[in-house]
Amino acid sequence: MNPKNSVFAILQQKHQIEAAVGLVDDGLSQLSRRRFIALASLGATAVAFAPRLVFAQKKGIVQTMIDSAAKAKIETYTLRRNISVLEGSGGNIAVLAGKDGKLLVDSGFTVSQPRITETLNSLSSDPITQLINTHWHIDHTDGNAWVHSAGAAITAHVNTRKHLSTSTRVEGWHYTFPPAPAGAIPKTVFDDAYRVHHNDTQLALKHYAPAHTDSDISVVFEEADVIHVGDTLWNGIYPFIDYSTGGSIDGMIRATEHNLSAVTDKTIVIPGHGPIANKTSLAEFRDMLVTIRSNVATLKKQGKSLSATIAAKPTAAYDAKWGQFLITPAMFTGLVYSGV
Ligand SMILES: [Zn+2]
Repeated sequence: MNPKNSVFAILQQKHQIEAAVGLVDDGLSQLSRRRFIALASLGATAVAFAPRLVFAQKKGIVQTMIDSAAKAKIETYTLRRNISVLEGSGGNIAVLAGKDGKLLVDSGFTVSQPRITETLNSLSSDPITQLINTHWHIDHTDGNAWVHSAGAAITAHVNTRKHLSTSTRVEGWHYTFPPAPAGAIPKTVFDDAYRVHHNDTQLALKHYAPAHTDSDISVVFEEADVIHVGDTLWNGIYPFIDYSTGGSIDGMIRATEHNLSAVTDKTIVIPGHGPIANKTSLAEFRDMLVTIRSNVATLKKQGKSLSATIAAKPTAAYDAKWGQFLITPAMFTGLVYSGV
């Protein structure tokens, strides 16, 4: 899976540090979730002809992600047993196919509905009956409404329901999300852990302590030894961290340590973003997070401002590998700086 093929490909060139620290003037922040879902459901053409006002201003991360998903091809990767991954609409979507109907982990963006539907139909004729959200972010839950309409019951952490049920701001995206439509809101929620039996598979759902947000869960497909870790792992990519809903650099490091302790060398790890991963990928991600946290903390303790810290290039040793995508080195430095 090449990250450059996915929904975020275009963003790297377009967004600088001001997006990370919430200074971008996002012309869409006044648009209601319902309105942009309505636009999105009309497909790429409608998005392209959306009001000029919106596009006259600097495009925000959220709209850029939607525009990218509107154009993206959905790539399918077969893992083990009856588990596949769909890439190309926001976060990576896991699919467990079988006689009980398809179980999805995350729902991508609504603009991708026709292409996701076509891809799911190519896997098997089973209907969609279950959906699990790894966390509340729109690039993992925007498709909830149509997936629910198609027949899925939705399960998530209690904080995913909370954030989808109310107006929720993400400062790092400079965007306030109004409440999601009723059908998009998970009916089954849990605090710490939850088990699902579906298609002869035991699924273990487990809440992380606040990490990328306060709603992150892992989903383990036990017989197949596959784990979807949501946005606690961006494989080979600097991660976004949502301080507005409980995320932090220290929480990300704790979640990564937890992930490392939960897998073996044989486990297949599905990241929120980026190609399919394994234990080595998790260890590299942990080392990157820990080293950059330490570098940024040292500069901040010396009294350096955010701009002086960015100028000191605390991420330099990692940029060639990790900084070529959605979150630029400067943006990631800003996200770490906020939490040390
Ligand atoms: Zn996320």
